[in-house]
Amino acid sequence: RLYNEVQDLKGNIRVYCRIRPFLPGQAGKQTTIEYIGENGELVVVNPIKRGKDGHRMFKFNKVFGPAATQAEVFLDTQPLIRSALDGYNVCIFAYGQTGSGKTYTMTGPPRTSKEEDWGVNYRALNDLFQISQNRRTSFMYELGVQMVEIYNEQYSFVSLDLHTLGILTTSQPDGIAVPDASMHPVKSTSDVLELMDIGLKNRATGATALNERSSRSHSVVTIHVRGMDLKTSAALRGSLHLVDLAGSERIDRSEVTGDRLKEAQHINKSLSALGDVIFALAQKSSHVPYRNSKLTQLLQYSLGGQAKTLMFVQLNPDVNSYSESMSTLKFAERVS
Ligand code: ADP
Ligand code: MG
Repeated sequence: RLYNEVQDLKGNIRVYCRIRPFLPGQAGKQTTIEYIGENGELVVVNPIKRGKDGHRMFKFNKVFGPAATQAEVFLDTQPLIRSALDGYNVCIFAYGQTGSGKTYTMTGPPRTSKEEDWGVNYRALNDLFQISQNRRTSFMYELGVQMVEIYNEQYSFVSLDLHTLGILTTSQPDGIAVPDASMHPVKSTSDVLELMDIGLKNRATGATALNERSSRSHSVVTIHVRGMDLKTSAALRGSLHLVDLAGSERIDRSEVTGDRLKEAQHINKSLSALGDVIFALAQKSSHVPYRNSKLTQLLQYSLGGQAKTLMFVQLNPDVNSYSESMSTLKFAERVS
């Protein structure tokens, strides 16, 4: 097992926190981040209670401060990603309120072409492809990519075919059967990049007001790995799911109605279902409640058992985000 890392005490679930920087134009804003330790400690301060008992300490497997680069974040994620080539099912999530940097971590800044800006999913796909083609000569690998969006508890399979634009919406009651058309083999590095772009574009053509909607849907990029040991003919299968979750912000029920309220309820339900599943796995509970949301159903066979899970907990450092940050941190505390 070349890429199997040493497991830490928490078993197969780990949590990284990433704090995004203030953006241009936000200079001089007050931060809630008081201290970032070398060993995953984070101290957050309540701006109202500053100096009294307004400090809270949290502990993660790792904390990335505002200056952390995409390359640094990937370096600490790479061993986990590579274990998909050993036959593990790996899930990586980005959790946090809208604007906290989930998409930046997973994909990168909007419309970037600079390699240094690439997020985890481009880097992962590229890395797995390079290794499977060039470095493990005793194995033969096939990689396939797939994109699924979950919006209002419905799956949409994003077509990665240049010729079929748009999203293929399936409303099968429990349909996690994946349409063949949505699975795309990867044969070269340029395929890799092209695919990610096609996926994003197709998603955009199919959905009205993509930016609006993307913060209210879960986006799942899956890399399927099939390998064969050339000496023994033993076969293996692994997978990597890269999940950009819907914004976790609490919606004031008195202020929204209709579609907006329905969206909020769906998001709430699926994020708590995810929390419950990871919590049950972390507790090594004999009952894991996978059936409570489309997201946990989709990932049922990739969470738990021979699976590895990483959660990026994303924070906006602004004092105005203090209460959202605290609810994000409490979610993280429960699952870690
Ligand atoms: P989310 O997906 O959680 O809604 P985004 O990823 O869209 O948040 O981030 C919000 C804004 O902050 C975007 O303009 C994004 O480019 C920027 N941003 C997020 N994280 C970083 C970072 N680590 N470095 C620089 N800019 C960032
Ligand atoms: Mg986003």
